[in-house]
Amino acid sequence: MIKHLSASSIGMFQRCQKQWMFRYMEGIKSPPNVAMAKGTGVHKSAELNYLNVIEGKDPLSVDEVQQNASEAFTEATEDIEVWEQNKGEALDQTVTAAEKYHNVYGTTVKPIAAEQWHEITHPDWIYKVVGIIDLETELEIPDIKVTGKKKPASEVEKSLAGGIYRKMVPGKEFIFHNVILGKNAIRTETIKADFISGNDDKIDGYITAMQFSIAQSMNTGVFAPAAADSWGCNSRFCGYYNRCEHGGK
Ligand code: SF4
Repeated sequence: MIKHLSASSIGMFQRCQKQWMFRYMEGIKSPPNVAMAKGTGVHKSAELNYLNVIEGKDPLSVDEVQQNASEAFTEATEDIEVWEQNKGEALDQTVTAAEKYHNVYGTTVKPIAAEQWHEITHPDWIYKVVGIIDLETELEIPDIKVTGKKKPASEVEKSLAGGIYRKMVPGKEFIFHNVILGKNAIRTETIKADFISGNDDKIDGYITAMQFSIAQSMNTGVFAPAAADSWGCNSRFCGYYNRCEHGGK
């Protein structure tokens, strides 16, 4: 029985209820992949730097950031079964991405919290919603993303995590700190968006509806597979593909 939900668990249920069943009813974690490990390397190195600054110290040196990114990447790749990219190449990309992030944000942003746990409730909700927010400054809640391509501002507006985090830390602007791993270069971009008024009510209603859907699936044991034309229902993007009757089983 689940005790709470998060933006990522609600997002997974939205993408594929079968995935959610494997992960949260059967407790099977999706095996890590290279993209996840690169994200972990950049996130961890940024987190350690910001925690250092919050303690009143100077930002970490580039060498320390690179070392932290390398160690986090290496640890995150221990259980990788299928390497979609050469390991050394992926490690180099992660270390360079962490350095780029550090030079643009890590040495200039003034953090007041990093990797902080939050939880919220609502009278209409069955479960509380929890989350760990990457970073908090005086005015903003930046979400650190490692991505393959430039993102439109609409992704910030539509981000479920953004809506939830804005409820957890009211009055602050949700933005993306993106690190883009392009084919020829690694670069960064900050994405901001004007939130449409009424968005917060929409988020409340959406989470309420999703909570009832999740509770109903748990009560009935019925979990729908991803839509037939879903981009993620394949061996590359679904870690449960080989155990699912709608995948390769
Ligand atoms: S194989 Fe498709 S239906 Fe099955 S868990 Fe994965 S995404 Fe869902």
